[in-house]
Amino acid sequence: MARLYDSRKRILVTGGAGFLGSSLVDRLLDMGHEVLCVDNLFTGTKRNIDHLHAQSRFEFMRHDVTFPLYVEVDEIYNLACPASPVHYQHDPIQTTKTSVHGAINMLGLAKRLKCKIFQASTSEVYGDPTVHPQTEDYWGNVNPIGPRSCYDEGKRCAETLFFDYHRQCGLPIKVARIFNTYGPRMHHADGRVVSNFIIQALRGEPITIYGDGSQSRSFCYVDEMIDGFIRLMDTDETVTGPINLGNPLEFSIRELAEMTVRMTDSRSPIVYRPLPQDDPRQRRPDITRARETIGWEPKIGLEEGLARTISYFRDLLPRLQVG
Ligand code: NAD
Ligand code: UDP
Repeated sequence: MARLYDSRKRILVTGGAGFLGSSLVDRLLDMGHEVLCVDNLFTGTKRNIDHLHAQSRFEFMRHDVTFPLYVEVDEIYNLACPASPVHYQHDPIQTTKTSVHGAINMLGLAKRLKCKIFQASTSEVYGDPTVHPQTEDYWGNVNPIGPRSCYDEGKRCAETLFFDYHRQCGLPIKVARIFNTYGPRMHHADGRVVSNFIIQALRGEPITIYGDGSQSRSFCYVDEMIDGFIRLMDTDETVTGPINLGNPLEFSIRELAEMTVRMTDSRSPIVYRPLPQDDPRQRRPDITRARETIGWEPKIGLEEGLARTISYFRDLLPRLQVG
């Protein structure tokens, strides 16, 4: 195992070719670490990591985390799992397997290596919350048999496994509950609201609001989310989480649509489509624990983050049409 310097680690990032994973990989390489990126490229793309192949501290392995993995690393970030409703509902059995078997495989690896392991959990563990804003001690309101359950219950079971490995085997765990995050490298076709609205606005196509648009979400810019991951991983063994990571500023989906149309100078009309089943009505993190434990608080407002994301998609779209 390459441990040239005490501070240089070899770090495994599962899901490292995805939206959040590839930004995390960039950041860890910038910090001087070696990174092993493991991904089956289901929703991730080689484009997200193409710029890294000349980098000697970067290694890519195409692998599905539902199968065991035998590697030597000092830390693990477990991000592998499709995150958008369109993709996780495409093959729901595989989604649950990815969360549950993936967690078992990565926890088993961490146990053998006696290393810290980070879990990308989600605000979806709160389901359609009846407590607002959501604190970590809220147990959630999740439908166990609906179309979102493969993701929500898979992630809840993964949390259970993380805490059982911690209690039973003394494994150092870091569980982050991630709220809606957006920014460059979101998959252009994964149907998430920010990418959908920006692409529709840039193409002059109708902006599709599901339901009446009064449902809310809180949107965190990707760079700040990655800061949160790294700060949480950097804590001592007494800190396990779960810890909410998200931007507490809350917007209705209609507000987001209007802001996107305005910021892109688009002529797109807003159209209304049926609300998907079990779509959460509201979502906003209480981030008191993140503030107090890891000194983390997002500062980038939605308008600033959207401007950066719009600029990313403006560059990307012509290349997609060609390629
Ligand atoms: P993404 O879909 O862009 O990335 C997920 C990555 O995991 C992709 O590269 C995909 O190919 C890979 N993957 C999927 N199944 C796999 C498998 N079986 N084996 C190996 N690789 C596999 O999504 P993202 O937004 O980057 O999300 C990353 C993580 O963060 C996910 O675990 C997601 O649940 C969590 N999360 C994200 C958000 C968000 O708003 N982006 C919110 C809450 C939680
Ligand atoms: N949404 C919408 N139009 C779209 C895509 C999504 O109105 O084109 C809504 C969706 O119904 C939900 C919110 O935007 O209420 C956020 O959806 P997303 O899929 O981004 O994330 P999640 O529902 O997982 O929070």
